Amino acid sequence: MPTLERLATYFKYLSQIESRNVEAISSAAMEEATGIHAAQFRKDLSYFGEFGRPGVGYDVRELRQRIARILKLETEQRVILIGAGNLGSALAGYDGLARHSFNILAVFDNNPNKIGRKLWDIEILDVSRLKEVNRELRARIAILTVPAGAAQSTTDALVDAGVKVILNFAPTTIRIPEGVFVRNVCFIQELAVLSYYLTPENE
Ligand code: NAD
Repeated sequence: MPTLERLATYFKYLSQIESRNVEAISSAAMEEATGIHAAQFRKDLSYFGEFGRPGVGYDVRELRQRIARILKLETEQRVILIGAGNLGSALAGYDGLARHSFNILAVFDNNPNKIGRKLWDIEILDVSRLKEVNRELRARIAILTVPAGAAQSTTDALVDAGVKVILNFAPTTIRIPEGVFVRNVCFIQELAVLSYYLTPENE
């Protein structure tokens, strides 16, 4: 898993510099940009074959494409989102998702006041129709932005509807069967880690 996380970090940075027309990058420059040691970067890439040329560095476009292939980011990834609230709305409205091939095809909620309305340009569907709708959409990725108390039942419904990976934003542990993967995102946890580095204000 840490290797995958590092690959995703390289991918993000390579995408950024490719859009600025940077053609080549050295492992030292990658270390400076990402904080991941140059030796680690070279080792990570060596698992996946030959990359880079001595003295020239790594071709940004080629490397980004190869990492995209490894991370399966090349093909369109169909995504559904459950919970059309504040966070769900912010995520669904983020155009960076589509730029990285993640397309939110449907949004579900259980609030009758929201069902039938639009979240950006996507109609909010009744979560009770999840299985039926996903039979058609065949999305295997879900983003979960429901309250903690609704996370497990929604997860069970997602698994029943054929979803295989879940990005969970609800602050709770969800149980999943074998063959299904969850990543939990918590920005409070990130802040807590950062706050550790703060020195007392009067120091
Ligand atoms: P919100 O109340 O604005 O949105 C929640 C949405 O989920 C609502 O539209 C609600 O109708 C819907 N919902 C509730 N039960 C449902 C169910 N059973 N099926 C389908 N939809 C259902 O809340 P928010 O501020 O958007 O936060 C959403 C979740 O994300 C919460 O669990 C919150 O704690 C969490 N959160 C996490 C982070 C993070 O960093 N991980 C940051 C902010 C919020």
